[in-house]
Amino acid sequence: MEPNVRVLVDMDGVLADFEGGLLRGFRLRFPQDPYVALEERRGFSARDQYGALRPDLAEKVASIYETPGFFLELEPIPGALEALQEMKRMKDTEVFICTSPLQKYDYCASEKYHWVDKHLGPEFVERMILTRDKTVVSGDLLIDDKDTIQGQEENPSWEHILFTCCHNQHLDPLPSKRRLNSWSDNWRAILDSERKARLGQN
Ligand SMILES: [Mg+2]
Repeated sequence: MEPNVRVLVDMDGVLADFEGGLLRGFRLRFPQDPYVALEERRGFSARDQYGALRPDLAEKVASIYETPGFFLELEPIPGALEALQEMKRMKDTEVFICTSPLQKYDYCASEKYHWVDKHLGPEFVERMILTRDKTVVSGDLLIDDKDTIQGQEENPSWEHILFTCCHNQHLDPLPSKRRLNSWSDNWRAILDSERKARLGQN
């Protein structure tokens, strides 16, 4: 049994403020069009919600996150950078960034690397996993704002910790699913409980 707790941390909505950047970009480029305020966001896909508001808005909102520079210029989520640096220094802990690039990966994939290098440094670039399927990545915890994470592996090795974001805050997840409401919430306790659970197994 590996002694370390391996934590996989998602990027958009957990480290980088995707939703805030998307809304700002949308309102700047399409000031005449209706938009979805962050408090009104429901569901993981902004594209779907904008499309339901008015069909042509789906393409318009997608054009924002497909624009060069969008991912690179996202603001860090409050407390995220400090939490990751602290996690990296923690004993018996391994941290990886686990992120899914867009299907239109041209700018997104390289900008994600640049973002991590700029905000967290080259040691975290070494710890990046870009994948469209997180279920095949092994870890103990996956901190992610996506409410349902599915893929080839039906029983992923990690426990999904739902990171609260505007689009999932109204959801009532299964009672068994743990939430992290923000980086000022007690993420250390979640790691500790995982470490204790692993010791118990030994
Ligand atoms: Mg995310």
